[in-house]
Amino acid sequence: MARGAPSRQAGLLRAAFPGEKSNVDTEAVRDRLLKRREELRQRASEASADLRHEADPLSADFAEQVTQRENDDVLGAISHSAQEELQQVEAALRRLASGRYTTCSVCGEDIEPERLAAVPYTDRCRSCAEGGHAAGGRGGRG
Ligand SMILES: [Zn+2]
Repeated sequence: MARGAPSRQAGLLRAAFPGEKSNVDTEAVRDRLLKRREELRQRASEASADLRHEADPLSADFAEQVTQRENDDVLGAISHSAQEELQQVEAALRRLASGRYTTCSVCGEDIEPERLAAVPYTDRCRSCAEGGHAAGGRGGRG
């Protein structure tokens, strides 16, 4: 059995950085993300406190209970989405701190500034976010 281990040479593409200044005001972004993080933390903790019925125990009345459980579904969704967004915000803050905030985590290209403005915690450029492999343009120059 011939074992032909395909030694695939890792073609490490080294992007040349011309020392250009980024258009993204990272200070403002950090500020915005920190505020957002506080909001989300508060929302997530309020929703989960309500879910545990700390201040509002389940009613003895069955019809009331139905309403409360419906409310719980909504609270659960709020808490879940707040926590998901919170993780994205925290990841974005880490990327800001390491200077990789504007770099797409998938293809390594710069993320469009207008995209970052719209979705400040995104970690991928528009084409990667929109399905990635579909638009796998080879030899794209930066
Ligand atoms: Zn990308």
